[in-house]
Amino acid sequence: MEQEKLDIKSLDSAALEEAVLHMGQKAFRARQLYEWMHVRLASSFDEMTNLSKEFRRTLQETCVMRCATIIHRQVSRQDGTSKFLMELADGNVVESVLMKYRHGNSVCISTQVGCRMGCRFCASTVGGLVRNLRTSEMLDQIYEIQRETGERVSHVILMGIGEPLDNYDQVIPMIRMLTDERGLHISQRNVTLSTCGLVGQIDRLAGEDLTITLAISLHASNDVLRREMMPVAERHSIQEILAACRNYLEKTGRRITFEYSMVEGKNDSPGHAEELSGLLRGMNCHVNLIPLNPVEGRMGQRSRRNRVEEFKLILEKNHINGTIRREMGSDIDAACGQLRNKRQRRETT
Ligand code: SAH
Repeated sequence: MEQEKLDIKSLDSAALEEAVLHMGQKAFRARQLYEWMHVRLASSFDEMTNLSKEFRRTLQETCVMRCATIIHRQVSRQDGTSKFLMELADGNVVESVLMKYRHGNSVCISTQVGCRMGCRFCASTVGGLVRNLRTSEMLDQIYEIQRETGERVSHVILMGIGEPLDNYDQVIPMIRMLTDERGLHISQRNVTLSTCGLVGQIDRLAGEDLTITLAISLHASNDVLRREMMPVAERHSIQEILAACRNYLEKTGRRITFEYSMVEGKNDSPGHAEELSGLLRGMNCHVNLIPLNPVEGRMGQRSRRNRVEEFKLILEKNHINGTIRREMGSDIDAACGQLRNKRQRRETT
């Protein structure tokens, strides 16, 4: 049987040096190779012209180079947001999104093929979890988009398909490589990890010495309501999550973001806004209100605009910062909760 090829792009600089020495090459070759992969974003070993032909051939024969490839791009007519369908080496597909803001270009990446968290309003979870993404497959979503568009990516958000903290062992090395000065060197502050609230892993993250932004998908102001919306709420109460957030804040000094998707008649009343304010009072945090993006076959309708605005005013009256998230790319199903790991029928327009 053919031996499985080495996933060389998942190796950090120390591990790559070891692998290169093992191939009988000098250590500085590892630094050149690392730069080709993680700074110059080469798409093949052939491009790496300062490496000998022989070494390139060895790499070609024993290692995988492209781990995610763009196979389709859709551009939103509303706001220029692009959604990319990415194919992985085993034929699975995931989606990634590029959003252009005044402050820079933000890429939203997937962390798993599918998801097993089961949130009742989200499209990504419909077929369950297929598998975790590797470090290289997450990095390549960003690298491919930067290469394809020629635009420098300044912000990365882990809010695509999957639960990032359910793929902890590959997500953390990915964040380190992405923010390392030997790679794209994206500021840790410009990386946001969004989680449905896996308490044990939030505590672990607090000890990683990373100053990334933590976003919590809260979506409810009490546990009864949250359990109706998110099965994961059976495992952890809101109070446990908030305790983990306070610990994260204390260790990292980073303000917490709470995401609150607004579902008509479900979690969007003035009473809910007051209840949420009570939970978050005194905490250094920010609330993102997201009018629900409708997903066929999933729970609920979007709250009306005046409801969302009223909700925000109540938070403000209680001294809690809130913003209403602009939906980017909802016309191409690229908005929160609309990504899936299926090839969709292509619309003929
Ligand atoms: N699993 C992670 C990250 C992926 S989802 C998490 O749960 O945070 C990114 C955000 O979109 C989450 O806040 C998620 O709850 C929210 N979301 C999911 N479906 C949505 C929908 N239909 N409309 C609006 N937001 C949605």
